Amino acid sequence: MIRKVSILALVVCLFLPLLSPGLVQAQSELTIVDSSVQADFPHRLSFSLSAESDVNITDVRLHYQVDQISFARVTSEVYIEFAPDTSVDEDWTWDMRKTGGLPPGSSVTYWWTVEDAKGDRVATAPVQVDFNDNRYPWRSLAEGEVTIYWYEGDDSFAQEVMGAAQQALARLAEDTGAEVEKQVEMYIYADSQDLREAMIFPQEWTGGAAFTRFGIIAIGIPTDKLDWGRRAIAHELTHLVIHQVTLNPYSDLPTWLDEGLAMYTEGELEPVFIAILNKAIAENELISVRSLSSPFSAYAEESVLSYAQSYSLVDFLITDYGQGRMLELLNTFSQGSGYDGALERVYDFDMDGLNALWRDYVAEQYRQLEEGGGG
Ligand SMILES: [Zn+2]
Repeated sequence: MIRKVSILALVVCLFLPLLSPGLVQAQSELTIVDSSVQADFPHRLSFSLSAESDVNITDVRLHYQVDQISFARVTSEVYIEFAPDTSVDEDWTWDMRKTGGLPPGSSVTYWWTVEDAKGDRVATAPVQVDFNDNRYPWRSLAEGEVTIYWYEGDDSFAQEVMGAAQQALARLAEDTGAEVEKQVEMYIYADSQDLREAMIFPQEWTGGAAFTRFGIIAIGIPTDKLDWGRRAIAHELTHLVIHQVTLNPYSDLPTWLDEGLAMYTEGELEPVFIAILNKAIAENELISVRSLSSPFSAYAEESVLSYAQSYSLVDFLITDYGQGRMLELLNTFSQGSGYDGALERVYDFDMDGLNALWRDYVAEQYRQLEEGGGG
């Protein structure tokens, strides 16, 4: 509903500068008495406005923009329903349980426009509201392009987290040539429970999330689970950097590449993934590369296999074809290329070709494993 009016809102914005000289000259009694906003992270932003005029106020609208990387600035416009009066006190609440939420550290820019029966119109100056998770006493640590925010654990914990982030960025650059382009903010919650409470629609298994358009990562890392935390940091940072590098208005990345790179930066594949991959090879139940290009199955076993195969596909491409080609692939995707077209251009095979070559690669790995196990 909000999106529907956004085009109209853009048009309104374009004309506002043209209208404003007229506003100054009009002998209007129309004034904005007060404008404020209250943030209640992660659920809502409540906007309030009071205005007066010598004639009835007939039109009150709230306009807002979410500050994120996008190709067209989207302005949402909310028409406030009220009975015309010379004095109005209106408020409107953005209930994020209806729209989906925003990450900690995000911000929203808003302004109001008010019109009266004489046709006079005033607009408030745009105000930026920080949507912070103020339920915790965040401390911060910055290095290079990364800033860490945390509230549980001492300075050495934060330094470990920072070390893991910097190592992950270095590993990612070494494996793929992809480097962080914009400032990254990492919110480290004390555990996954705290993290889930910071999200509107968390998934049961959510341990971390990358909000790629915001340059923000949120992860729940208990101070005694740093080993898991290092992997989660590498995983989410990779998503963020890869999305920065390939961002374009035309197409997205195949899921196996996005998840495979994130898994690959974590380090060696964990035993649970190796076991399920080997089982699928032995039972000839591998998922096709074409299927893995779409979002993964929600079923646990199939999902684990999807991640394992994605890791292995990326491992195959980097091991056999090198870092340079991987960077070329990412650059090709950044130009809005389709899945088959990008692979063909860089590697001379499409998704089915990759599927066939990769199956030979894992079959050989599996054969060596079986032989190794025997002797
Ligand atoms: Zn992921």
